[in-house]
Amino acid sequence: MVRALDKYLREEVQRTPFCPGCGHGILLGLVLRTIEELGLDMQRMLFVSGIGCAAWIPSPNYKADTLHALHGRAIPFATGAKLANPDLKVIVISGDGDLASIGGNHLIHAARRGHDMTVVCANNMIYGMTGGQAASTTPQGSLTTTSPEGNEYPPFDLCRLVKAAGAAYVARSAIVRPYALMEYLSRALETPAFSFVEVLSPCPTQYGRRNRLDTPAGMLDQLSAACMDRAEIDPSLPLPEDRIVLGEF
Ligand code: SF4
Repeated sequence: MVRALDKYLREEVQRTPFCPGCGHGILLGLVLRTIEELGLDMQRMLFVSGIGCAAWIPSPNYKADTLHALHGRAIPFATGAKLANPDLKVIVISGDGDLASIGGNHLIHAARRGHDMTVVCANNMIYGMTGGQAASTTPQGSLTTTSPEGNEYPPFDLCRLVKAAGAAYVARSAIVRPYALMEYLSRALETPAFSFVEVLSPCPTQYGRRNRLDTPAGMLDQLSAACMDRAEIDPSLPLPEDRIVLGEF
């Protein structure tokens, strides 16, 4: 059977490494569908990732040049590749622990400098692959291996952080809103400067299980219910703190 995205995937990879119910497999496909819609040539693209579950989205799955870099260092590798070969379309796909916790310094400075690349941050609100520790994006009160009585620190709002640092395009979506997410990915890929898309992608194994969040399907329902589009909000009112606001910022 030939599937629509097969031409973008390496033949030798028969299955993804993700746990059943992980959001990252959906994101893997949506990035490829966006590339297909835009008609981008994968042979002129470079995908860079760091360490963590989301870093396995491009590498080794995508049939393109992929750089699987050190933990937290995806953006410096991407910056070097872009400076050496300005014709490359450079996309970083990695997780919140990698990009915004260990690699947070690189993220804000790349946004400040305006390097021409698209950064896709799969935010599962925890360090997944490395053991379920609290990250800079973990919600207050959440249970993790390093916060067994509840995380006491407030999480970063990644979109506000990256926007304040100077990014040209910033958006947040979720794998439960695939069409909006593809629209934002398209706009980010068409931005000839630093662009950033945060994608909420649940981790049932490390986050859901510890926080007793029902089944993977139940987690998707809960995420869907928690999200609201920015367009639904009265601009004269402050953003609601009990919901996750999606949209372009
Ligand atoms: S640990 Fe979490 S983020 Fe990692 S593959 Fe499993 S479900 Fe996905």
